[in-house]
Amino acid sequence: SKQIKVSLIGNPNTGKTSVFNLLTGLNQQVGNYPGITVEKKEGVCKLPRGVKAHILDLPGTYSLNASSLDENVVIEILLNKKDKDFPDVAVVVSDVENLKRNLLLFTQIKDLEIPTILVINMADRMIRRGISLNIQLLEKELNTKIALVSARKNEGIDELKKLIESYATLPTKPCVDALTFAPEYFDRLKKAFPKQSIYKLWLVITQDVNFRKIDKSQVTITPDFEIKSESELKRFQQKETIKRYQFINDVLKKGVFVDEKAATGLRERLDRVLTHKIWGYVIFFAILLLIF
Ligand code: GDP
Ligand code: MG
Repeated sequence: SKQIKVSLIGNPNTGKTSVFNLLTGLNQQVGNYPGITVEKKEGVCKLPRGVKAHILDLPGTYSLNASSLDENVVIEILLNKKDKDFPDVAVVVSDVENLKRNLLLFTQIKDLEIPTILVINMADRMIRRGISLNIQLLEKELNTKIALVSARKNEGIDELKKLIESYATLPTKPCVDALTFAPEYFDRLKKAFPKQSIYKLWLVITQDVNFRKIDKSQVTITPDFEIKSESELKRFQQKETIKRYQFINDVLKKGVFVDEKAATGLRERLDRVLTHKIWGYVIFFAILLLIF
């Protein structure tokens, strides 16, 4: 029977593998991607209404401006609809304490127009850090569905499974237009390849510069089309990143609240407890010394 193909994507250390383990339990295996030594973890998850999902735990990546082999694995899968690992739904795993950095990749994945779910993991840390979220607003601004998860406490995983099961109804449109800094260049690209998503085209071009080997079956670039110089493309990539961070900052300002007092108050209380303990030890050893 048909399985829903799910890719877990995210920065390193956001809890992808922890979420993967909760979704798949013991139904998992570890291998390698063909031809390279990057580890490949895949498994099966049974969803609430009985459908099965094939889950792929992709290597950690900071952005789709690939510079490493790990990142290139992710991009090649996401660019190639014919790849057997091309996902029906992308689950981007983020860490509630590092949303700004984590959302850079999220906005790029959204540009690929794949159904996407945002997992905000490490929810167990929110109280201690004084963080609260307006999930509804974040969902609207980021044009996505959000699962608030604590992999450590096994919370929010059922909600995530439900979202995966309803992947066909998830929003697929981008959340920010990041390629607005060179209108003339991108207009020309659009005209040359009217059927392609402009962001995919852009990825292939930059990817090609970084690796000179990508499978272009998805996007054909005619040899006579002028491709910018490497340094110019790098400058464009920087402008793209700046655009994305401007958008992310605006969204986070509206949807994330950090109560510094709650955070520091707790730290002070912790400090006090610790100081008490230290005094306890000092007195204890002083008494020991006195006895002997
Ligand atoms: P990956 O690099 O994205 O695969 O992340 P891992 O699953 O290996 O987790 C990275 C670290 O974060 C590990 O030390 C986990 O124990 C920890 N971690 C994962 N999920 C949670 C969570 O929900 N809460 C907390 N507090 N820590 C977590
Ligand atoms: Mg991992």
